[in-house]
Amino acid sequence: QMGRVYNFSAGPAVLPEEVLKEAAEEMLDYNGTGMSVMEMSHRTKEYEAIINTAEQDLRDLMNIPDNYKVLFLQGGASSQFAMIPMNLMKNKVADYIITGQWAKKAYQEAKLFGTANAVASSADKTFTYIPDCSDLPISENADYVYICENNTIYGTKFKTLPNTKGKPLVADVSSCFLSEPVDVTKYGLIYGGVQKNIGPAGVVIVIIREDLITEDTLPGTPTMFQYKIHVDNESMYNTPPAYGIYICGKVFKWLKKMGGLEAMKVHNEKKAQILYDFLDQSKMFKGTVVKEDRSLMNVPFVTGSEELDAKFVKEAKAAGFVNLKGHRTVGGMRASIYNAMPIEGVEILVAFMKEFEEKNA
Ligand code: PMP
Repeated sequence: QMGRVYNFSAGPAVLPEEVLKEAAEEMLDYNGTGMSVMEMSHRTKEYEAIINTAEQDLRDLMNIPDNYKVLFLQGGASSQFAMIPMNLMKNKVADYIITGQWAKKAYQEAKLFGTANAVASSADKTFTYIPDCSDLPISENADYVYICENNTIYGTKFKTLPNTKGKPLVADVSSCFLSEPVDVTKYGLIYGGVQKNIGPAGVVIVIIREDLITEDTLPGTPTMFQYKIHVDNESMYNTPPAYGIYICGKVFKWLKKMGGLEAMKVHNEKKAQILYDFLDQSKMFKGTVVKEDRSLMNVPFVTGSEELDAKFVKEAKAAGFVNLKGHRTVGGMRASIYNAMPIEGVEILVAFMKEFEEKNA
């Protein structure tokens, strides 16, 4: 009677069923407390255990070195578009690599606070590739270099990080968080909204190198927008998004059980390959991204006919594959296949696409 669909949404997105069931079981009485985590003061030892365990599990999963702090904040990923320059723009200069709308929004926000330079862009080809970032004109006094590592809307991913010429790298990993192993030491700051791979919207996780956390923020920076305040208060300066963090914690446990990020990478590569292999031989469906920059998480594709696209989305929905419509600015289709999307979900989507192609040839 519980009709779960295959949800290909770009976010909020599919979460592990196991996690949802566990949360449901604990809804009325968490661990003998007689209350839901939603009803629980964050200043209790039960809640402290939840957030501390979540942080430790994330540290284990990503192998986060001790000189990086982990923050669970609110305001979504977009809050960081401002928080990053307010805290990091000591020289009031930052370099941005524009690979899509989310990078562009961050870049435009940074302009409110200082000089933001677009040092590379793939706007010339509708963001269907990642520019060569091996030798960019990085500003001598840049406080950081900014990327959006996986571009949710366009389906591209940085396979090689940019050469920042010694400047701290700041990365929005919202749509590739915990999808494969990362070398945290290559970054000054990593952040992401959790509503794709990790948990409920609103929570944003920030992983920041200690030397970038200072009291020396731009004049007028609100208290809630200071990393140091949140670091000093261990993400409890104010009431954290407590229930959301609890769900994130459960997903971290699930990821550990699944074998961690190495295993996730294998799982995600398998899924993406099934879909990309189909797209590469199809006479009707075509992927929109250059092969070497394809995302493992977001797979945009088109038929070349808007009518046929609409027909496909409609019939797919009726068959239980939902949220396949492409972003409103791109059109066509997009299948987001985050960690919690099972292989079967992609296999039967491809079977459905094959059938659709035969019927509409
Ligand atoms: N960055 C990326 C890469 C995203 O995909 C999104 C949302 N889809 C955002 C930022 C904005 O996130 P939020 O809505 O949580 O502010």
